[in-house]
Amino acid sequence: MEINFKNKKALIRVDFNVPLDKAYNITDDTRIRMALPTIQHVLKNGGSAILMSHLGRPLKKLKEDGSLDVEKFTLRHLTGHLGELLGVAVKFCPETVGDTAQQMADALQPGEVLMLENTRFQKEEEKGDPEFSKKLAALGDVYVNDAFGTAHRAHASTTIVAQYFAPEARTFGFLMKNEVENAGKVLNNPARPFTAITGGAKVSDKILLLERFLDLVDNIIIGGGMAYTFFKAQGGKIGNSLVEDDRLELAAELLKKAEAKGVKIYLPVDSVVADKFDNNADRKVTASNAVPDGYMGLDIGEKARAEFSSVIKSSKTIIWNGPMGVFEMPNFAEGTKTIATAVAEATKAGAFSLVGGGDSVAAVNQMGLADEVSFVSTGGGAMLEMLEGKELPGIKAITG
Ligand code: AMP
Repeated sequence: MEINFKNKKALIRVDFNVPLDKAYNITDDTRIRMALPTIQHVLKNGGSAILMSHLGRPLKKLKEDGSLDVEKFTLRHLTGHLGELLGVAVKFCPETVGDTAQQMADALQPGEVLMLENTRFQKEEEKGDPEFSKKLAALGDVYVNDAFGTAHRAHASTTIVAQYFAPEARTFGFLMKNEVENAGKVLNNPARPFTAITGGAKVSDKILLLERFLDLVDNIIIGGGMAYTFFKAQGGKIGNSLVEDDRLELAAELLKKAEAKGVKIYLPVDSVVADKFDNNADRKVTASNAVPDGYMGLDIGEKARAEFSSVIKSSKTIIWNGPMGVFEMPNFAEGTKTIATAVAEATKAGAFSLVGGGDSVAAVNQMGLADEVSFVSTGGGAMLEMLEGKELPGIKAITG
């Protein structure tokens, strides 16, 4: 970060949207830990930190009497743990903006940390309200955005607030900078062959991504539930496998476009099929376009694993989004595991690999391979939108 933080109050947007149990203990503090380098940098360089974050969707989950469920969504629950991680007591402000927030911010000394109340307690946050943003901006001297996970939203604390700081007084935090740089590695001059691996449940969720990949990559591997829509579109028999009948034409068109553009599409030639959606279902391996009646494809088969692995291992740039099967059930996790291992091996051999989007991130974590790929993105939706070629408001607000 180029800003000199000495004697500056840094207004930092972090993503502390962590899971809590019923007693409000943090059950996974990854997001908090990821923001530590940025906060520590500010403190070490003589600044103070005013932290903003959302937690859950408090305005969508009001109490029965229509009031805010402050106890459930307050960021106060996080300050103790954050303080322990930082080695600095974290002050808490019970409002996001207002007189108390302004007074507490004004009184903040170098080396101190202040956490503001949940930004989403205010309806103005998601609306990107300028007045609310201005009040937030008045709390700090400089603005740091380290919340990549919300960079695709033009909310007050993630985007609009940046307008009230001069270009030299606003910057990305380390986490956000890292995400933007790694996305850049696959989007700008990637080493070839470039392979995109997509999977998961729905074609409709991934269609923009697939379209974009047609202009970027050499190979597209399609696994998971979404593959069966493509098989059906080609006249295959898919039994009870997941299908989106309203996307058949789109799938067929995509295959045609790929051919015209010289992009090779790999669908799983075989599948592990099951008679019900259950880990203990009766299982067998069949061709993916000849799934018997009463059966559904829940994982890619041996032949598909071998073919996909060989494509992956000969690639120099790899993007992976979406599991190859229902990896949450051990009997249908093998395909995803094989692909994760192939990505790790390709990386060891010099390829650049980026894993982005919720479930494939969960899969590499579950398999203990997160350290063996080049980059695991923390921002599911934000990373997908970046890969789709969209300009993210939270990024544009910093870079101008
Ligand atoms: P997505 O969020 O679209 O990436 O989808 C991830 C989900 O797709 C995971 O929960 C997987 O269990 C599920 N999934 C993957 N393959 C299949 C399949 N063949 N049939 C049904 N669900 C699947």
